[in-house]
Amino acid sequence: MVDIRSATEEEVRAAVVQLGEPAYRAGQIVTWLQQKGAESFDEMTNLPKALREKMKDTFELRCAKKLRRWDSSLDDTSKYLFELNDGETIESVLMHYHHGYSVCISSQVGCKMGCTFCATGMGGFRRNLTPSEMLAQVQAIERDKHIRVSNIVLMGMGEPLDNYDAVLRFLRLVSAESGLNIGMRHISLSTCGVVDRIYDLMQEKLQLTLSVSLHAPNDEIRRKTMPVARRWDMYELLTACRDYEQTTGRRISFEYAMISGVNDSDACAKELAEKLRGTLCHVNLIPVNEVKENQYKRSSRERLERFSDILSRSGIAVTVRRTLGADINASCGQLRQKSFEQTDGSDVISGSDNDRDV
Ligand code: SAH
Ligand code: SF4
Repeated sequence: MVDIRSATEEEVRAAVVQLGEPAYRAGQIVTWLQQKGAESFDEMTNLPKALREKMKDTFELRCAKKLRRWDSSLDDTSKYLFELNDGETIESVLMHYHHGYSVCISSQVGCKMGCTFCATGMGGFRRNLTPSEMLAQVQAIERDKHIRVSNIVLMGMGEPLDNYDAVLRFLRLVSAESGLNIGMRHISLSTCGVVDRIYDLMQEKLQLTLSVSLHAPNDEIRRKTMPVARRWDMYELLTACRDYEQTTGRRISFEYAMISGVNDSDACAKELAEKLRGTLCHVNLIPVNEVKENQYKRSSRERLERFSDILSRSGIAVTVRRTLGADINASCGQLRQKSFEQTDGSDVISGSDNDRDV
C-alpha cells in the first residue's frame, strides 16, 4: 500500500488520477494529509464517500497515536510517547519559547550509533521512520494542544543522517506551502557526525541549521563516548563542517555535553578552542543529562562557566544551554522507545507526579 502522507503533491495527483478521479482532488487530499494532519480517510468529509473507500483500499495512512503525555511543572515543556501503525513507539518533545512552539522529533525508532551517554543509543536500533511518521509527530502535537508549531528540531531519537532519504523528503514536505509551511530557517538537524552524509547534505544547499554533536576536543576522548568517531576522525569531521559552512553560508552549531571528569577540563576547553579557530560556528554547552544506565555526572555550574569563558576569550561564540523539561526526562539523550507505564490509567501526567527514574 502507498504511504500517502509521505507523497508529494505531484505524487498524490498521479495516484488520484490512477484511481480514475479528477486531478483537482489531489489538492484537497494534500490539505488533509499535510496541513490538517488527518488521522483517518473518513475525516476527509469534502471528498465523496466512494473515493474515501477507494483510498482506504489503496493507501496507508501513517499516524502517531498519543499513548502518554508528560507536562513539566518547571516550564512549558511536554513529552509525548507515540505509537506508530506497527506498534513501535517513539518519543517527541514540545517546547514553548517566546518566539513560538518548537517540536523536537525522532527520526528513527532507536539508534545504531551507540553513544555511551545517550538513552536512545543504549536501547539499540529498531527501524527508520518514514517521512509521514516524522510529520505525524508534529501534526499530532498541533492537534493535541490546538497550536501551530513554528520550529522543528531533528534532535529526538535516532540519527537523522542515517535515515537520509526519508529525512530529506520530510524536510521538503514540512516546508512546502501546501503543507505545514515551516521554513528551513526554522528547522535544525542534529548529527553525531556522519561525514559522508554531511557532504551530501551540503549539496542540497538548504537553509536549515546543522548541529554537530562534538562532545570532545580530540579523538581519544571522542572515541570513548561516540563510536562514530572511530569511522571518521575529528580532522575529517571538522573539514566537512568547514566545507559545509562555505558551501551553504550557514554557521554550524556544535553541541558539547559537559561530563564531569571526562571532557570538561580547562585543557579540553583550550584544545577545543584551538581546533575550532577559524570556523564560523557556535558552541552550545549543556550539562550532560544523567541517565540511569551509566555513571556519567554533569559538570558543575562553575565548570561550565569556566569552560565557556575559555572558549569565548578565544573568540568562539558560545552559549550555555538551558535544560527544559528536566522533571519529565524530556531533555537531550533521555528519549526512549518505552517510558515507564503509568498505573492510574491517565494519559496526561504532570511533572510533579512523575517518577524521575524512567
Ligand atoms: N543523533 C543525533 C540527534 C539526536 S540526539 C545526534 O546525536 O546529534 C540530540 C542531541 O542530544 C545530540 O547533540 C546528542 O549528542 C545529545 N545527547 C545525547 N545524550 C545526551 C545526554 N545524556 N546529555 C546531553 N546531551 C545528550
Ligand atoms: Fe544516536 Fe544521537 Fe543518541 Fe548518539 S546521541 S546514540 S547518534 S541519538
